[in-house]
Amino acid sequence: MSLNSVVEELRRRPGSGEVIPIIDPATEEQIGEFNDGGATAIDDAVGRARASFDAGVWSAMPARERAKILWRVADLIDEHAEELAQIDSLNTGMPLAQAQMIVPTCAEIFRYYAGWCTKLNGDAYQVQMTGGISGAYADMHAYTLKEPYGVVGLIFPWNGPLFNACTKLAPALAAGCSTVAKPAEETPLSALVLERLLVEAGVPDGVVNLVTGYGHTAGAALVDHPGVQKIAFTGSTEVGKRIVAASAGNLKRVTLELGGKSPVLIYDDADLNTAITMAAMGIFVHSGQGCICGSRIFVQRGVYDQVVEGIALVANNLRLGGPTDEGAMIGPLISERQLDRVMGYIDEGKRDSVDVITGGHRLDRRGYFVHPTVLANVDPAMRLYQQEIFGPVVTVLPFDDDDEAVALANDSDYGLAATAWTRDLSRAHRLAKRLESGTVSLNCQLVFDHSVPFGGYKQSGWGHEWGREGVESFLQTKSVYAQL
Ligand code: NAD
Repeated sequence: MSLNSVVEELRRRPGSGEVIPIIDPATEEQIGEFNDGGATAIDDAVGRARASFDAGVWSAMPARERAKILWRVADLIDEHAEELAQIDSLNTGMPLAQAQMIVPTCAEIFRYYAGWCTKLNGDAYQVQMTGGISGAYADMHAYTLKEPYGVVGLIFPWNGPLFNACTKLAPALAAGCSTVAKPAEETPLSALVLERLLVEAGVPDGVVNLVTGYGHTAGAALVDHPGVQKIAFTGSTEVGKRIVAASAGNLKRVTLELGGKSPVLIYDDADLNTAITMAAMGIFVHSGQGCICGSRIFVQRGVYDQVVEGIALVANNLRLGGPTDEGAMIGPLISERQLDRVMGYIDEGKRDSVDVITGGHRLDRRGYFVHPTVLANVDPAMRLYQQEIFGPVVTVLPFDDDDEAVALANDSDYGLAATAWTRDLSRAHRLAKRLESGTVSLNCQLVFDHSVPFGGYKQSGWGHEWGREGVESFLQTKSVYAQL
């Protein structure tokens, strides 16, 4: 599967609206284009998904057979790892080495959820109630069945195209759902390859339906569609709110993995070398375009200057470049729109007299590159401190004690991924309880495992992905009472 064949296949897909260009963010050059599928393609896809669900070709397939097919998908991802990595790296601008590290994880996600297919059981209950119209309930029992929702809509963001697609498709398919999937308009390429691999592995026709297009056209039509029983969305909090409102028509279930403004607390007793390196990488990796990026760092006052200096040093030593640039560690932002957004926040900060410790400018070359930026002397009321920037920009503020650190960390509408660096383990676990965040990392950062549930507190999301919760989010529970 060459890049050219994928681009060509995408271009040939019919659409009902505009033609959307695919831009290489490292060079600003167009590498392809495709049709916006729009509402028509969504309607067709939902129809095919419904027909496949009702026919039971997947939903009623023995679980052990579904498991074998999902395992085969994983093997095919491994077989095609290099081309998948090259496609995602070209499409997002991320260094090839980074994309190469992500692809095997995508295969493991399919293997993990292949294992769940045969374990999706309900529970049995002793009926305890007495009395009622028919007298005592002594000779009764009850049990629950776990059943797939039906047709589910999956909407992905651009920041990890293959990874986000696998994170949703693997559990949805393990649960027995039929799917309509919409990748981000910036990054449709690897989803197309994945669709081919799913078919090659044996997923029957109509079970996976990929529709490419804009969010406000194809995405909105999917969310609005009365034939869809659930939406699983990853993206911005702003669009997440729109999805909640739009899904009210048929009260479809919604799970949301949204934005973050994650705090990192560094105490004076921490292993400072590790904390500084990891806190810096925790924001600058992927140019800050990760939902879990730690974009607000708080440092205990005694070591504040040392940590700020250390993070700036790491920032200045990170080599920026495109996928094919020798030794590049950090790629560009995804688009001109994202570049303008990120520079808008930085310029606003400069106007408000924040201290720019390092960075604060785009690189003088083609591509949407922004120098890793460290900001100090920031007022917590500022927009750049409160809102998700989704770029390589971090604010660093001092604190004195636990109460102040927790108050600063929790002063956010978001609650996705908090971190604490301290050698005092009792304090670390106390902080884990007090931090308002769906995930808390103690003396580690950027460590995530798809067997552990992942979800946001506050405006960072609804529900969970990954782990058992991930597959259960595609299942509904039916209670059955039986008179013996
Ligand atoms: P986005 O919300 O703009 O778009 C995400 C997806 O939603 C795209 O496919 C887009 O086409 C679609 N979309 C847009 N408008 C829509 C609408 N009205 N109806 C239906 N679909 C619509 O987000 P983005 O800019 O692509 O991605 C960045 C955001 O994603 C950040 O906020 C980031 O924090 C978040 N994110 C969260 C997680 C997580 O797991 N919590 C993971 C990755 C990214």
